[in-house]
Amino acid sequence: MHELSIAESIVRVAGDHANGRRVTKVYVKVGHLRQVVPSALAFSFELVAQGTPVEGAKLALEEVPVTARCRSCGVESRLGAFPLLCNSCGSADLRIVEGEELMVESLEMEEA
Ligand SMILES: [Zn+2]
Repeated sequence: MHELSIAESIVRVAGDHANGRRVTKVYVKVGHLRQVVPSALAFSFELVAQGTPVEGAKLALEEVPVTARCRSCGVESRLGAFPLLCNSCGSADLRIVEGEELMVESLEMEEA
């Protein structure tokens, strides 16, 4: 399950930044291309967080839409669905600008 390994890396990053404090909320940005199922990720996150400083924390997911620049015509398109094609000329030769990210944006923690 792909969400499980994503959850593991989120918990690891959040735990590293927590510095021993208890994390109450984790804000995560996830690109559309990651094809994350939010409910599956929330479930995995809860599971993986057990026994760590992140246990019981809420997961706030922000999905980042795909933006790509066309190598043929240079137009930047915002893309919602597969297949990914240039909005202007229909080319599939695209460079992804946004939509592949997976990062922990910020944390809410209890006061030390
Ligand atoms: Zn194009």
